[in-house]
Amino acid sequence: MLESLGAQVAPLRSGDDLVGPDGVRVDAVLLPGGESSTIDKLLRMFGLFEPLRTAIAAGLPALGTCAGLVLLAREVDDRAPGQQSLGVLDVTVRRNALGSQVDSAETELESTLGPVRVAFIRAPIVTRVGPDVEVLAERDGQVVAVRQGSVTGISFHPELTGEPVFHRQLLADAVSGRVNPPAN
Ligand code: GLN
Repeated sequence: MLESLGAQVAPLRSGDDLVGPDGVRVDAVLLPGGESSTIDKLLRMFGLFEPLRTAIAAGLPALGTCAGLVLLAREVDDRAPGQQSLGVLDVTVRRNALGSQVDSAETELESTLGPVRVAFIRAPIVTRVGPDVEVLAERDGQVVAVRQGSVTGISFHPELTGEPVFHRQLLADAVSGRVNPPAN
C-alpha cells in the first residue's frame, strides 16, 4: 500500500535499522497487524522497542493497524502475560474485543477522513480515549480509529481492502514532520 502511494519502504529489523549515527533513519513508521504480544517480544529481542518508543515520542509519525494499535497504546486491558506496549498513544485498548477469527469481516465505516471500506480481524477496540486524542471512526458505537498528534491507531486493516486514506495520511505526516529536509 505504501509503495503504491509512492513511498520508499524498508523493513525495520533492529534498533540500528531505525536509528543511525545521524539520528532516526526513516520519516515515518508503520506498525502492522499480526499478534501484538509476539511483535512486542520481537521488538524487545531485536533492540527495537526502546528506540521506537523514543523516536515516536519525539515526533516520528506512526500508523498502527490492529496489533499495531495495541502496541502504540498506553494501556492494554487484557494484555498477554508479560506483554508490554510502547505507550505513545494515550488510549486504553481491549485486545480481540471484536471476536475471534470467525468473526472477521469487511465493512464500511464513516470516518473523519470520509467513508472507508476496511477489514476487521480479531480486532481490538479503544475503551478509553485521552484528552488529546481525536476519534477518527467508530463501529456500532465503539471507537476503532484514533489519532494523537501524528500517531494514528486503527483497529482494522485498510490494506486488505485497498483503502488508502490512512496510509496517505501517514505519508502526509512524514512530509510535514520532516524537520530537516535533505538539501538538494
Ligand atoms: N488480536 C491481535 C492482537 O492482539 C491483533 C490481530 C490483528 O492484527 N489482525 O495483537
